[in-house]
Amino acid sequence: MLRKLLGKVDDGRFGRAVAGMQAGWQWECRERHEGWVVGFVRYGRKEFYVVIEQRGRRGLARCSCYDVVHRGVLCKHIAFAAMSELGLAAAARSAHRELPELGR
Ligand SMILES: [Zn+2]
Repeated sequence: MLRKLLGKVDDGRFGRAVAGMQAGWQWECRERHEGWVVGFVRYGRKEFYVVIEQRGRRGLARCSCYDVVHRGVLCKHIAFAAMSELGLAAAARSAHRELPELGR
């Protein structure tokens, strides 16, 4: 689900999320349950609230930024949050720990 969601992010925004990873953006997960995750993407003095939830096999995502609220597109913060969650789930798997499934 997260990988599918990432596939719907346009190239420019995806690239900016990857650059954010290099620049040390922070993903601060507040709640993670079966099928949904809530948290903040932070960098500099900026902070964006991101929600990603699973609807059937699809992912629905929201962010507090202008892109999502006014343009209705998947933004770089959602992409960053999804990549971070994939990274955390992969790290947990290699450490033989379990995180609630988000349906990768
Ligand atoms: Zn955003």
